[in-house]
Amino acid sequence: MPSVLLSRIGRARKRQLVDIGKGGARDALQVLANGGVATACAVVWAFNHNIHWTLAFAGAYAASTADTWATEIGTLASGPPRSILTWRPLGTGMSGGVTTRGTLAEVAGALWIGIIAPPAVVIAYLYGSFDFGWSFAYAGGAHVLAHMVTIFGAAVFAGGIVGATVDSLLGATLQELRRCDFCDRTCETNPHTCGNPTRLVRGLPGISNDAVNLAATLTGAIVAPLLYLWLISF
Ligand SMILES: [Zn+2]
Repeated sequence: MPSVLLSRIGRARKRQLVDIGKGGARDALQVLANGGVATACAVVWAFNHNIHWTLAFAGAYAASTADTWATEIGTLASGPPRSILTWRPLGTGMSGGVTTRGTLAEVAGALWIGIIAPPAVVIAYLYGSFDFGWSFAYAGGAHVLAHMVTIFGAAVFAGGIVGATVDSLLGATLQELRRCDFCDRTCETNPHTCGNPTRLVRGLPGISNDAVNLAATLTGAIVAPLLYLWLISF
């Protein structure tokens, strides 16, 4: 997957700039925070073939993909990111920072999932035993099906964008930002990897990057089906 590849490229560089924490347990938690909502929606979808669960899954997946692409490509940008709230320059790799390149990557990431999700669902419909309520659309012919597919893709894309924006906004406000005075470095862990205690410089204690990612993917999972319902009503 492109996200994994981008993550490989960006993580080493990001780690030089901001200590994002490492270790097996933390990585497992990160995977759960990034993919937990999408996985839960996919599991429910396996038992309840309602299209809203498909949309929730794809919306969560679009949000995490948009955020991953934005972070990894934005971190590689030459200029310093600016705060999504105050527009003041921030240190590279800091949560809540946005760059032009990162924002374009975010849009591309959400668009990518918005484009690949509808054909995947049509294939599942045609060759699987699923009926998402699209049978009437399929019976209506290619024109009606194309209309449904477009709305589906647009809802997933929008879910990804809104989710990634929530990620940036929470990253700039509620997310814990700590500082190790011993190393004079910004970090997200306490104690620091050097072993010294860190102090909170912004955000709420306990609101980690994982918590923010969870909220962002949940937003994508909620926005995509709601937007689909709204658009389909016209
Ligand atoms: Zn330190």
